[in-house]
Amino acid sequence: MSARPETPSDDSLEAFRQDTRAWLEANCPFEMRQPVVDDGDVCWGGRRFQFKNEAQRVWLERMAQRGWTVPEWPRQYGGGGLSKEEGRVLREEMAQLRCRAPLTSFGISMLGPAMLKYGNEAQKQEHIPKIVRGEIRWCQGYSEPGAGSDLASLKTRADDRGDHYLINGSKIWTSYGDKADWIFCLVRTDFSGKKQEGISFVLFDMGSPGVTTQPIRLISGYSPFTQTFFDNVKVPKDNLLGELNNGWTIAKYLLTHERNMIGGMGLGLRTDRSQSLGQLAAETIGLSSGRLVETALRTDLARYEMDAQAFALTLARVAAEAKAGNETGAMSSMLKYYGTELNKRRAELTMSVGGTDSLKFGDEGEVAAMWLRSRANSIEGGTSEVQLNIIAKNMLRLPGN
Ligand SMILES: Cc1cc2nc3c(=O)[nH]c(=O)nc-3n(C[C@H](O)[C@H](O)[C@H](O)COP(=O)(O)OP(=O)(O)OC[C@H]3O[C@@H](n4cnc5c(N)ncnc54)[C@H](O)[C@@H]3O)c2cc1C
Repeated sequence: MSARPETPSDDSLEAFRQDTRAWLEANCPFEMRQPVVDDGDVCWGGRRFQFKNEAQRVWLERMAQRGWTVPEWPRQYGGGGLSKEEGRVLREEMAQLRCRAPLTSFGISMLGPAMLKYGNEAQKQEHIPKIVRGEIRWCQGYSEPGAGSDLASLKTRADDRGDHYLINGSKIWTSYGDKADWIFCLVRTDFSGKKQEGISFVLFDMGSPGVTTQPIRLISGYSPFTQTFFDNVKVPKDNLLGELNNGWTIAKYLLTHERNMIGGMGLGLRTDRSQSLGQLAAETIGLSSGRLVETALRTDLARYEMDAQAFALTLARVAAEAKAGNETGAMSSMLKYYGTELNKRRAELTMSVGGTDSLKFGDEGEVAAMWLRSRANSIEGGTSEVQLNIIAKNMLRLPGN
């Protein structure tokens, strides 16, 4: 098979668009073209994942077969092998037909990119195809009770025991720790020098003897996190990603992907994306001479829409810079900061537009829960204050410690 050109011509891109549209129309089940309404509509994959219905299973299987769960990852590991332009066309066509993402996972948005960059060949062959097919669900073991913003202070330790490491310690806020099959985890392998220089990045099965999880229940009753304990967990040395004591570099690289993913949420919540806030407001509040009757809300909505447009253009610019090979590291902090603030504004406006109906909770409505959830966006993946510190230091070059 001949290699795909890095930048396809307009003609071949148009042909690709036509083929893609036809394939999606023929293969995306009707149910998978409906808006995501609740958590069960999101396919996380993994050994224990319960598909909500047959359509969800079929959609994952069909997309994974083409590598389109991760369209731009290399074909040799099961990815789609598409160019950036083709990937963009695929996303546009999926949006046009309102196709749901076939798979959402920390393997795709976090571990995969880091493994493709830092993993050895055996690790890529072993893990990447399973991420592509949604066979293994990963969780992230970074934060600890004494190490959140100051992540490099982490104390979970991995001691060298010849052919394996022995891991002891505890992680906190492990999203879906009780549902995950494997964990990517930061551990301390050297206590002597600068704290960033004694960290390693290891991978292990959550079913290993000595791993336990304890759900952290939120006030809503919902429990998306665990505290995760490691008690003499044996991890083969082959499961070290990258070099010993070089985990901090990998951890930071992974965080740029995590932050880009979280920042991207600023352009829309997971409810009905087909309806703009303006349309929703027109329906619930009403129009006078074609204008929203509430002037203050109209101004806020217009300001949000303009900022969201500007943010979408910024996202496109950063993507183009990344494609051109420019280093975009600290940009992810800017996108994360702005995207999550934007998402909070959108959630606030959705609440305002819906009036008292927005206060319904649980089975009766999801807007309030989503508004509350949006508050956590500016904490997860590193808080807004921490992103501002990174922007000040690495982008604005302001003096600091
Ligand atoms: C929804 C959600 C999901 C998460 N999922 C995961 C996960 O899967 N895996 C994982 O490992 N972790 C996860 N986390 C944890 C997350 O990474 C941490 O909560 C975050 O890094 C902040 O750490 P902390 O909670 O210890 O707060 P702290 O670090 O204690 O911060 C407390 C406050 O102090 C401020 N602050 C701290 N240091 C500074 C500073 N230098 N300058 C200015 N202000 C500062 C912070 O901004 C914050 O307002 C998740 C968190 C959330 C909310």
